[in-house]
Amino acid sequence: MPPIESVESRWPDPPPGWSTQDWRTTPAAERHLHVMRELLARNGLPRPTGMDETQQVHARLDHGRWLVQCPGCASAQHAAHSDPRFYCVNCGNRGSGQWWPVVWPAERTEVETQAQARSGPVMWAHAQDPSLAARDVRQRIDPPRRPARPPHPGR
Ligand SMILES: [Zn+2]
Repeated sequence: MPPIESVESRWPDPPPGWSTQDWRTTPAAERHLHVMRELLARNGLPRPTGMDETQQVHARLDHGRWLVQCPGCASAQHAAHSDPRFYCVNCGNRGSGQWWPVVWPAERTEVETQAQARSGPVMWAHAQDPSLAARDVRQRIDPPRRPARPPHPGR
């Protein structure tokens, strides 16, 4: 079973010009922004300042990767469990220029273990995540049971 991906495991090594110490001590959400800096610049977006607590987003396990889907533009990017802040590199969190807090499951490693034990793709979505993708994931994991068929009358 391949390890589950997050910002931390996807970009473990320092990029050129960075010491291992500097890379490891930079908060993970900021490491992600560094990796995505060219895209950020191309989209004309500033680095985020401050936190907008009114807009929560949810971490979702999607085919073995922890992702956050942006409620502003629906693009998805890797999530950082050690640094639960989100900044969309495509829309700058609806142009607000502020971080949004990321809701993670209380027992992340347990969620991962259970998701890896199921057959099929490694998926999980928070019960409070309102996105369509999250609803799809919840339905795949725990499909609603069909009511028992009534007996066929007159046959
Ligand atoms: Zn966005």
